[in-house]
Amino acid sequence: KGEHLPVCTYEPGREESHLRQLKLMSDLRRAQARGQLRLVFQPKLSLPEGRVCHAEALLRWNHHELGPIGPDEFIPLAERSGIINTLSDFVIDGALAACRAWLDAGLDLGVAINLSAIDLLDDKLPDAILGHLRRHRLPPRHLIVEVTESAVMRDIEYAVRVLERLRAAGVRLAIDDFGTGHSSLAQLKRLPVDELKIDKSFVMRLVEGSDDDVIVRSTIEIGHNMGLSVIAEGVETEAGLALLKRYGCDMAQGYLFSPPLESAAFAGWCNRHRDALAQA
Ligand code: C2E
Ligand code: MG
Ligand code: MG
Ligand code: MG
Repeated sequence: KGEHLPVCTYEPGREESHLRQLKLMSDLRRAQARGQLRLVFQPKLSLPEGRVCHAEALLRWNHHELGPIGPDEFIPLAERSGIINTLSDFVIDGALAACRAWLDAGLDLGVAINLSAIDLLDDKLPDAILGHLRRHRLPPRHLIVEVTESAVMRDIEYAVRVLERLRAAGVRLAIDDFGTGHSSLAQLKRLPVDELKIDKSFVMRLVEGSDDDVIVRSTIEIGHNMGLSVIAEGVETEAGLALLKRYGCDMAQGYLFSPPLESAAFAGWCNRHRDALAQA
């Protein structure tokens, strides 16, 4: 049977990318101590008014030789090398510190963080998060935890327990990249979540009458029928935004409004945005 024969395919650059991964994994262990990690923040806006509801914190790594490395590359490496918990702790602390600073500056906003599948297997995580919230004197409602469908599905029983403890304490939960995983609606129903984030691959090039249009429209409907608030990520065009408003999408996030910004620049952006809304 031909299909069972071992096939040796030549992949150009495979060796090279393996070496790069090993190097990045080893350098990532020291990146935090070397001050190479920082957070940037992107606004999530309410529709149709366009008020800023909260910010998503996104991790950035500026490597000393290789320059900026994207989280899509280094987060999986952090998961494989067992240091994701340390990174997540850095993210939670940094995001809440920024949120506290905005609050002190008169901006009453929440902050969203991304957690990985591995984080959801740590039963000490809820207490650690609540500890950070107390230390920064923030009510739990100021924190939104974003997890992907696939992260939750890895071990749904366990993940649900961890998420339920956070939710019981008042932390809000979002399912990220919705539509790209393999979860069923039955499983989704079991998750203690508040917010559904439609993956940017369906949103970026959203035009009326396309497949994306059908997917986005029905996802908003499903989310609403399940009592969830629905957000579209990756909004890049006015035409896409108009459709999202027409379908009653609750929130939007994307380059059309703002790229992710440093904490202080983000606060500045929010103030200018608030003034512009007041003028309009
Ligand atoms: P995500 O959580 O789905 O974040 C949204 C990604 O879309 C971010 O990419 C953001 O910069 C990008 N984005 C925002 N608006 C637009 C837009 O209009 N168009 C397009 N094309 N992209 C847009 P980023 O920052 O590169 O992060 C990629 C992924 O890495 C995140 O996807 C998240 O899964 C992961 N990630 C980022 N920061 C963290 C973190 O602190 N912890 C963990 N565990 N994962 C993280
Ligand atoms: Mg996210
Ligand atoms: Mg996403
Ligand atoms: Mg994503």
